[in-house]
Amino acid sequence: MTQSQPVRPTQVDAVIVGAGFSGLYALYKLRAQGFTTRVFDAATDVGGTWYWNRYPGARCDSESHYYCYSFSEEIRKEWTWSCRYPAQPEILSYLNFVADKLDLRKDIEFGTRITSGKYDEGSHTWLVETDKGETVQARFLITGVGNTSTPAKPTYPGLENFQGELYHTALWPHEGVNFSGKRVSLIGTGSSGIQCTPLIAEQAEHLTVFQRTASYSVPARNFELTDEMRRKQLETYDDWRELVLASPIGMSFPVPTKSAMEDTPEQRKAVLDKLWEVGGFRFMFTGYNDVITNPETNNVFVEYITAKIKETVKDPAKADVLCRFNHPAATKRPPLDTNYYETFNRDNVSVVDIRSDPVAGATEDGLTLTSGDHYKLDAIVFATGFDTVTGTLLKMNLTGKGGQTLADKWQDGPRAYLGLCPQGFPNLFTITGPGTPGTLTNFPGCIEQNVDWIADVLQTMRKTGATEFEATAEAESKWVQDIIEAADQTLYPTVDSWYMNSNLPGKPRVFTAYLNGMPSYTAVCAEVAADGYKGFEIRNPAMADAN
Ligand code: NAP
Repeated sequence: MTQSQPVRPTQVDAVIVGAGFSGLYALYKLRAQGFTTRVFDAATDVGGTWYWNRYPGARCDSESHYYCYSFSEEIRKEWTWSCRYPAQPEILSYLNFVADKLDLRKDIEFGTRITSGKYDEGSHTWLVETDKGETVQARFLITGVGNTSTPAKPTYPGLENFQGELYHTALWPHEGVNFSGKRVSLIGTGSSGIQCTPLIAEQAEHLTVFQRTASYSVPARNFELTDEMRRKQLETYDDWRELVLASPIGMSFPVPTKSAMEDTPEQRKAVLDKLWEVGGFRFMFTGYNDVITNPETNNVFVEYITAKIKETVKDPAKADVLCRFNHPAATKRPPLDTNYYETFNRDNVSVVDIRSDPVAGATEDGLTLTSGDHYKLDAIVFATGFDTVTGTLLKMNLTGKGGQTLADKWQDGPRAYLGLCPQGFPNLFTITGPGTPGTLTNFPGCIEQNVDWIADVLQTMRKTGATEFEATAEAESKWVQDIIEAADQTLYPTVDSWYMNSNLPGKPRVFTAYLNGMPSYTAVCAEVAADGYKGFEIRNPAMADAN
């Protein structure tokens, strides 16, 4: 007997897109406040990025005690993390636990993609269409689609002829992959490629890592948490929560106060030696305050990591390729690893510089480089990242006031006041959208702040009977301009990266994140609200009638 599907309303207060960290919390929060919702996710279950990214070695780079929700003391006390950086299955279990605990799943429609959204200026509502052919009318459209959710891969000539297996780290088969006895190439050396390299190497007959850009990877130094550690974490929760809230990157780290240039070379080495042993993001972000703004300090990090790679990788030819840096440290999202560089000491692992000798195309049995070098392969793994930040939002085909599409509006780069509200697209909210601090911070913290702020807007509108909430063009322009000016004070614009929206050809090159950190952003959002939502126009139904 098939279970009948619940009848869902076609008119709701809010459509929420996504059932990862953002969508789950948005659903919980709005439902608790009595708003009606429809929640959609293309996946068949909750988890967002942690649903899709099941490649071997997928693990969080943020530490478990803050890479989680903070809104519920009950959840915090009931859930037990096994280690410093939980692996993908554990984070997925956590999100399943939260969904069950809060009874969220019943209100989520899985396996359903939003195909378009059109703002109706007459009724001040969004008409949202799904790939199931349904149209839902909602006052508010809230996206929780993540910044790394539309996988991207190269279109090599002849790839369709390749007879071996093709994988992308973000679309990993749920049943796993066995690389035993296979010749594998892995393309891409960002966080995903660096995490899966050691595990694929353990299985494959031979693994060839195709590197376009050398990464500055830092040891994660994962460890199991003991009961004693967990007890202490709970006991000291208030103290480290204070650190999290004061941290620009939303992590429980002390904020560094001095430049590397204030220390002698010996002092710098002592600081970095200690942080290298501690591992994780603390290495880049707790030693000195100017790694991203001062080329001299940055160079201290570059030289330090170069020396570490050369010390670790025994074959000087491999070490040379792994150290062919073309950008300052931390200007691309810094990866963390477990035995990445050590893996190149294996006889069955090689590294090829495809910046100097790019892939020319694929054949039935492998990949050929521009030089003519040919690699016979049984499997190709693309760890080539995503159409980041804007990709998934644009795929939803949103049309705002006056028939303007989001693609048109963002043709020179994404624009949204506070990173949440694109002008011309009233009642649309983009959780951790371009212009929030999201991509530079611990995501769950930014998500909670964004959702709480959005929920307050909805409550205010309900109280006052308002039906339309729209950023002004002036407020949005200043927000975007301030972000560009802040980025220009840093080393970020010196390299193409997904932070710069320039990791794929054809995307407008513009910095996409609020740079002044989470505490500053939170304060600005609170001020805007306290000031009667300064920078926004709030309209009432009478105006809708007049349209
Ligand atoms: P990524 O950081 O964008 O890295 C993609 C890699 O593929 C880069 O080395 C890139 O080289 C290379 N690449 C892209 N297109 C290529 C092409 N056509 N030919 C050759 N090489 C190409 O993607 P990712 O590693 O999947 O990570 C994306 C983001 O997801 C991370 O920055 C992080 O924020 C998040 N993430 C987090 C975790 C975690 O917390 N543990 C794990 C994985 C991912 P170029 O640099 O030259 O473009």
